Amino acid sequence: MANTDKSFFQPVSGMELPRFAGIPTFMRLPAVDLDNPKIKDVDIGLIGVPWDAGTTNRPGPRHGPRQLRDYSTMIRAGNAATGIKPFDLVNCADLGDVGGNPADLQDAMKKITAYYKRVKKAGIVPMTAGGDHLTSLPILRALASDGPLGMIHFDAHTDLFKDYFGGFKYTHGTPFRRAIEEGLLDPERVIQIGIRGTSYGGEDIEFGRANGVTIIEIEEFFERGVKDVMAQARKVVGDLPTYCSFDIDFVDPSYAPGTGTPEIGGPTSFQAQQVIREMAGVNLIGADLVEVSPPFDPSGGTAWLGVSLMFEILCILANRIDKNRVG
Ligand code: MN
Ligand code: MN
Repeated sequence: MANTDKSFFQPVSGMELPRFAGIPTFMRLPAVDLDNPKIKDVDIGLIGVPWDAGTTNRPGPRHGPRQLRDYSTMIRAGNAATGIKPFDLVNCADLGDVGGNPADLQDAMKKITAYYKRVKKAGIVPMTAGGDHLTSLPILRALASDGPLGMIHFDAHTDLFKDYFGGFKYTHGTPFRRAIEEGLLDPERVIQIGIRGTSYGGEDIEFGRANGVTIIEIEEFFERGVKDVMAQARKVVGDLPTYCSFDIDFVDPSYAPGTGTPEIGGPTSFQAQQVIREMAGVNLIGADLVEVSPPFDPSGGTAWLGVSLMFEILCILANRIDKNRVG
């Protein structure tokens, strides 16, 4: 996409207007919805999906996008560690929220898929703020229309369960089981990292491994370290189109308590930044950051961590788009 109107797509600097002032769009970027003529110049769309109908335990991620937007006003324009300045490389905008339906799960999924089909058709790479983890399923239904995708999945849980509550198939514990069954993901090109916690018996992990999913449990992650595990992740997904799904409960609850299903013994906030930076060069066609639950986040620290990780992912996406454009 031509980088035609760069100044319009710059975030408002904290040097010009204090960070606590102004309308809190994602990262203080311009708001450009799908019907705005400027949408044709957008490369990466930051999108909120305020929806948590798949939550089986403690609810709240429906409030995630608004809280993430608020805390995202503290993000500056450059990544000091990697040197990437995403807003100088590509046009990023806040596309707003996908209108959902909190009372009808199937209708909400249809609306989300229809929305992301429009995003894909417009050539926009989506960076989504959830929402609970079921959000990823209707997104994948839109993005995988050309064939199954690979996926790098950071989470304490596999989200590969068969069903809940006597045969109910659509919860935040089942999205990737459905995605594999529906041919949206190529299980041989899926890696799940950070898996831990008390268990229902391991049926989810057995299904994953039997179908070729690479599952890195937390003990192996700490034993091998970030660089070795992420080298394997890059190998598993290869050069083909790949999605990144980041559940905030990947990070230890001492850093991310504001989520529905926390599991102790997880990575630090710094290790979360490191694993994302190791995705440099992966052919990422979209990403999400899910399961931030403001009702369980009174300090706002989990939302701050969430948007900080969204910025790290955005840097990887922007760098990739820019390199593809040049090369
Ligand atoms: Mn999850
Ligand atoms: Mn999880």
